[in-house]
Amino acid sequence: MLRKRLSLQEYIDGIKCGKRFILSRAITLMESSLDSDQKLAADVLEALLPYSGNSIRVGITGVPGVGKSTFINAIGPYLIEQGHRLAVLSIDPSSEISRGSILGDKTRMSELSLNPSAFIRPSSTGNNLGGVAQKTRESMLLCEAAGYDVIFIETVGVGQSETLVHQMVDCFLLLMLAGAGDELQGIKRGIMEMTDILVIHKADGENTPLAMKAKKEYENALHLFPKPESEVLPRVLSCSSIEKKGLDKIWKAIIHYQQKTQQNGFFQQQREKQRLQWLHDALGQQLKQLFFQHPKIQHELAQLEQEVLLGHASPTKVARALIQAFTTPPS
Ligand code: GDP
Repeated sequence: MLRKRLSLQEYIDGIKCGKRFILSRAITLMESSLDSDQKLAADVLEALLPYSGNSIRVGITGVPGVGKSTFINAIGPYLIEQGHRLAVLSIDPSSEISRGSILGDKTRMSELSLNPSAFIRPSSTGNNLGGVAQKTRESMLLCEAAGYDVIFIETVGVGQSETLVHQMVDCFLLLMLAGAGDELQGIKRGIMEMTDILVIHKADGENTPLAMKAKKEYENALHLFPKPESEVLPRVLSCSSIEKKGLDKIWKAIIHYQQKTQQNGFFQQQREKQRLQWLHDALGQQLKQLFFQHPKIQHELAQLEQEVLLGHASPTKVARALIQAFTTPPS
């Protein structure tokens, strides 16, 4: 059953007071595809914009099984002990394909989710990854306005989701396993180049020497990469989430990165660039939505799709004709 929608003021006040259930409902509102919900959601976001931004946004990636959720479950309580409030959002490309999302199915981070200083929200599902990313950005701002000063955005390390996450965070953390080659871990050079902190995970038990060796190897390899735009050389660290070892060093490295980039101006520049990118992405999304909802397009699309499908018309020409129909005012 649908719950009654709150008023604009109720959303704003609830979030500013840090009420988790109102935050949760506001995110649901953002995710709604109803036009009236989207309008209200945009007003909520606009009103809360001045209260957002005060956090460190960290992207966390690595292949499934590398231990991302265990890591977040382990480092989360440590951060909360230090007086932080942590929000964890996820981008899950699998939800598009299977609907049974990897992140949604498992009772992930169950321990952390019980902590009143943590807010955990699985990925929204949508019919395209760009749209899902858009919602994640909006959710992130709402979490900040609700007083969460550390935001983790977790991704499953496949496909384009890393790039999307990279476009919305301040610091990008890649979890890796010792002993498995980069290819095996699906790590492309481009992802290594985006990485600010590389963590050799599961550095415990008999895996410890292997992890130390991998740490050295990656340290050497990263020296061969071009100097990052941030001018802060990426760090390589190791940790064990099960033994809760090395987590403090990772947090220190995040803070170090934040301080350095704030000092040299990169932090602010990157956020500016990301806001512009967001505008362009939003434009793309909204245009697309307008286009497909347009009565003329809805009327003509199915027929023209058939012609393309049968090879009777070229996709480029049909696209041009449809855009023409879309942009021509009714006579
Ligand atoms: P995700 O898919 O990246 O979120 O990975 P999970 O957090 O679900 O962890 C995958 C598996 O790795 C689980 O069986 C965990 O128990 C195990 N694991 C996670 N962290 C560690 C660690 O620090 N040490 C060891 N030895 N195993 C771990």
